[in-house]
Amino acid sequence: MDPESGVDMGAMRGTAELKGGYYYLNGPKWWMSSSSPGPVGLNWHLALMKTDTTKRTSGLSLFIVNDDAPGIIRGREGDLMGQRWACARYEIMLKDVKVHKKYLAAPEGKGLYAIVDAMNKHMGNQALQAVGVSEAAIRQALDYTTTTIRWDHPLIEYQGVHFPVADMWVNAEASRAIATKACKLWDAGDEEAKHGKWSVLAFRMATSSAVDACRKTIELMGARAIEREEGWPMELMYRESMIFQLYRTPNVDRKFLASYLVRKRL
Ligand SMILES: Cc1cc2nc3c(=O)[nH]c(=O)nc-3n(C[C@H](O)[C@H](O)[C@H](O)COP(=O)(O)OP(=O)(O)OC[C@H]3O[C@@H](n4cnc5c(N)ncnc54)[C@H](O)[C@@H]3O)c2cc1C
Repeated sequence: MDPESGVDMGAMRGTAELKGGYYYLNGPKWWMSSSSPGPVGLNWHLALMKTDTTKRTSGLSLFIVNDDAPGIIRGREGDLMGQRWACARYEIMLKDVKVHKKYLAAPEGKGLYAIVDAMNKHMGNQALQAVGVSEAAIRQALDYTTTTIRWDHPLIEYQGVHFPVADMWVNAEASRAIATKACKLWDAGDEEAKHGKWSVLAFRMATSSAVDACRKTIELMGARAIEREEGWPMELMYRESMIFQLYRTPNVDRKFLASYLVRKRL
C-alpha cells in the first residue's frame, strides 16, 4: 500500500505506464508483507498501481513483480510492534521498474477486486490464527491462577477470577465457530462467503476477542505478565495481538458489514 493513501486505496499515487509491451512502475510502497531481502522474503510480490490516474479504485491494476527487478529501492527498515515475521518493514520506492504485460495478474482496472477476493478467503484463516492467540492466553491465565497462592488459596478459587476466564472461553469458542463456518462456506462456493461476508464477520469477532483475552490475562497475572525475564509470554502476545487490528482496519470492515445489512454500498 501507499503510505500516504493508507486505507483509501483509490488515492494511491503509484503508477504503471504501458510502453512497447512493458509497464513501467513508479511510486512508493510500505508495509508490504514478506518484502525483506534474503531467505525470509518472497521472490516475487504483487503490486497495485494506477494504470488510469483519472480513476480511483477502478484505475488500479495488479502486477507480479520479481523481487530482484531493477528499480526496487529499499529505504528505512522499520521496527514493527507486532507480527515481525511478516517482514513488512521496508519503505520501498519503485523507480521505472520494467514489467512485461504478461505479468498483469488481473485485467487492467480490476486489480483491487482481485486482491480483495484473495483477502476475503484469507480473513477466515486469519480469524483462526486469532482464536489460537485467545486459547494461548486462556492457557496462561489458567497456568498462573492455578499455581499462584494468595490468602492461602490458588487464585482460581476466587470468584472474581472465574468471570474473565469464562468470558474468554465463550469468546474463543464463538470465534472458532464463526471462523469455521466462514471457511466451510467458502469451500462450498457460497456466493456471500466468496464476497467476504462471513470471513470479515469472523475476523472482527476473533481478533477483538484475542486482544481482549490477552488484556484480561495480563490483569489476572499482575506484574509478572509484563516482566519478560519471568518467562511468561503475555507481554509479547498482547503486543502481537494488536496487529490484527492494524493490517485490516476495523472501521473499514465495519463499513463493509454495515453495507451488507442495508444491502447498499456505503
Ligand atoms: C504487519 C502488517 C503487514 C501489512 N502487509 C501489507 C501488505 O502486504 N500489503 C499492503 O498493501 N499493505 C500491508 N499492510 C498495510 C495495511 O494494508 C495498512 O496498514 C492498512 O491499509 C491501513 O492503512 P494505514 O495503516 O495507513 O491507516 P490509515 O489509512 O491512516 O487509517 C487510520 C485509521 O483511520 C480509520 N479510517 C480511515 N478512513 C476512515 C473512514 N472513512 N471512516 C472511518 N474510519 C476511517 C482506519 O480504519 C484506521 O483505523 C500491512 C500492515 C501491517 C501492520
